[in-house]
Amino acid sequence: ERMSEQYDRALRNIYDELYALDVARDTYHIVYHTKGKYVTPPEEGALSEAVELVAGTMIHPEDRKRFYDFFNVESVREYFASGKDCLIGEFRKLWQDGSYHWASLTMFPLASTGEEGGEKYLVFIMDIGEKKQAEELAQRNILLERRRLDDERYRAIVEQTDTLVFEWWQDSGFPYLSPEIPRRFAGNYDSRDIFAVWREDEVIHPEDLPKVEALLQDMRNDKPHVEMTVRLKHQDGRYIWCKVAITCLLSTAWRGKRLIGTLNDVDAATRSIIALRYRAEFDTLTGIHNAQTFYAEADRLIKGHPERQYSIIRMDISRFKVINDLHGIEEGDRLLRSIARMLTDKMEPEDSCARLGGDIFYMCVARPEERIEALLREITDELARYPLPSRVAPSFGVCRADAAETSVTMLCDWANLALQTIKGNYIKNFASYDQKLRESIIEEKKIENEMHEALLSEQFVMFLQPKVHIATRRVIGAEGLVRWRHPSGRLISPEYFVPLFEKNGFIVRIDEYIWKQACAVLRKWAANSLHLGPISVNVSRLHFHDTRLCEKLVEMIEEYEIPAKLLELELTETAFLENAKQLGDAMKELQRVGFLFSMDDFGSGYSSLNMLKSLPINIVKIDREFLTEGVATEQGRTIIRHTIAMADQMHMKVIAEGVEDKEQADFLLEAGCSFAQGYYYSQPLPVDEFEKMVFGRAVPSGKDAD
Ligand code: C2E
Ligand code: CA
Ligand code: CA
Repeated sequence: ERMSEQYDRALRNIYDELYALDVARDTYHIVYHTKGKYVTPPEEGALSEAVELVAGTMIHPEDRKRFYDFFNVESVREYFASGKDCLIGEFRKLWQDGSYHWASLTMFPLASTGEEGGEKYLVFIMDIGEKKQAEELAQRNILLERRRLDDERYRAIVEQTDTLVFEWWQDSGFPYLSPEIPRRFAGNYDSRDIFAVWREDEVIHPEDLPKVEALLQDMRNDKPHVEMTVRLKHQDGRYIWCKVAITCLLSTAWRGKRLIGTLNDVDAATRSIIALRYRAEFDTLTGIHNAQTFYAEADRLIKGHPERQYSIIRMDISRFKVINDLHGIEEGDRLLRSIARMLTDKMEPEDSCARLGGDIFYMCVARPEERIEALLREITDELARYPLPSRVAPSFGVCRADAAETSVTMLCDWANLALQTIKGNYIKNFASYDQKLRESIIEEKKIENEMHEALLSEQFVMFLQPKVHIATRRVIGAEGLVRWRHPSGRLISPEYFVPLFEKNGFIVRIDEYIWKQACAVLRKWAANSLHLGPISVNVSRLHFHDTRLCEKLVEMIEEYEIPAKLLELELTETAFLENAKQLGDAMKELQRVGFLFSMDDFGSGYSSLNMLKSLPINIVKIDREFLTEGVATEQGRTIIRHTIAMADQMHMKVIAEGVEDKEQADFLLEAGCSFAQGYYYSQPLPVDEFEKMVFGRAVPSGKDAD
């Protein structure tokens, strides 16, 4: 009895409620329950009803299903049949104050007390609220411990790498900042957030502020990861390129966003990337854009602003190589740098300029024609004042960007083509690419394609223009002039192709061809005992680059068996401008063999009587324009008279070319010039017509005579 009383007390100390269940009869009764704790069903009644009642009104809704399962008769039977001692379940049970407290329910089967005693169970209920709280606490400690370990790991990473870390919960300052950050970087790191410090204390390079704004905007837009590479001011005042990355964790809802930032010094790498990019985009010598950037930039400007009048201008420095050779590469570089500076100064915000290498500069400028001319004049004038003994003279090729579909490289090529047309021109230093130039370039290409074939198929022919003795009108010789009998039937004047052939060198072959024609005619006349006088031929200055010139001419006259004095050689003054010494030597050698030289176009350019003195010239040909202009004024007539007298004194023969009327002829005669060539006497004629005029008949060639 006592024993069972003590036992009962002990049980009551541990358990708050005790129920006895009779499953077979579907009844229960409460053996005891501690007052003032759990809400309980009636003292006794139907078991199934009580389970319904408790489950429905006294168990936390979330635990209700488990509660039914706990009292499921079938599974209880099965459970104990497998030899288990007790069945335990934990549920939140309604407390007197209306809250739920965790309760542990323990069910024991009672040993059968008779055959009809059937299935009886005891259910002990114990308040385990405190235990549960302790468990939760422990659970939380585990989390904290894990966090601590995470933190340690994180700190180890932070300390072992160069990554500096800062961390904060939004709207509550920052709980962590690598001590290195204030040690290394400028700024007063107080309770403000790090971006406020960086902005307000001017730690961020002013040029990088827009990057910060963009980053903050991204963060406001809930981007989980954002980063930027900006310059941050070091304690010592210099700026260091840093990569700042922010990861935003949304996990801890109760404290808002948790932001973790990392900061890496990427100065060396960024600087080398910037340097590489710089080398890819800029000309390292002058610091202005290079070709690639210029093409892209000009393309963007021209395509993006069709309303502006853009032009591409190419600029070269005449004889830049000479400046380099004479004054040294360093001086040349200095000049290029100051040109770049000057061009940059002259560019307006919507313009662009670049150096393509060497002395080649390009500009892309938006201005009307007359302002472009003004710009080019300014540049020319400024360069003329550049302090170097050699004159710095630029030349410009301009190409208007009229059609947006033309690529920039094409426009540049065209500007260059325009420039090439004035290469070596002392008077004009700029040219525009226009329709006329375009057509003439196409024309030139066409001629160049045809010229070799034309020479082989004898489309080039020699015409002869008589030279006459003014007083008697007797023909005393002729000049051989080339014509191109084009397959199209046109007779093309040398004006159209000689300048081009002088550029591309083909004139050398044309000249030799004409010389041979002249030799052949002279041979034929001699064979027919017709003795006129010399035929003069034109000798391009390019021949004097040929060291075999003398040999060639000598071989030629030997082949045709004619005396050298019958082939007169006409040189223009431009030949003397280039390599006077070499030319003088070659001329003297040829004169020893018997060749005679005439100075063509005398008076048209730089030639002077002084120059004549120093050169072995035999004949002076007074230029047509010099004559026509000279005859018009009294002063001009004096000059011509004087020239003729001087030449006479130097034992040079004088002939005037381009004589077109009697007045000119009379003046020349009176001024002491005995010979003339010109339309007044005859146009250049095909050889047979010339022969008819001079000999009264066409002279058959040797072949025809046979
Ligand atoms: P040039 O050597 O001064 O030849 C004289 C030019 O004046 C010729 O033009 C001739 O037809 C032209 N002429 C002659 N009398 C008169 C006149 O009274 N009035 C006018 N207005 N013109 C007159 P062309 O034949 O057209 O030759 C032009 C230039 O082409 C030549 O000038 C010469 O520099 C060059 N040329 C012609 N043939 C050859 C050649 O075989 N070799 C080389 N290297 N150049 C040549
Ligand atoms: Ca001539
Ligand atoms: Ca001439």
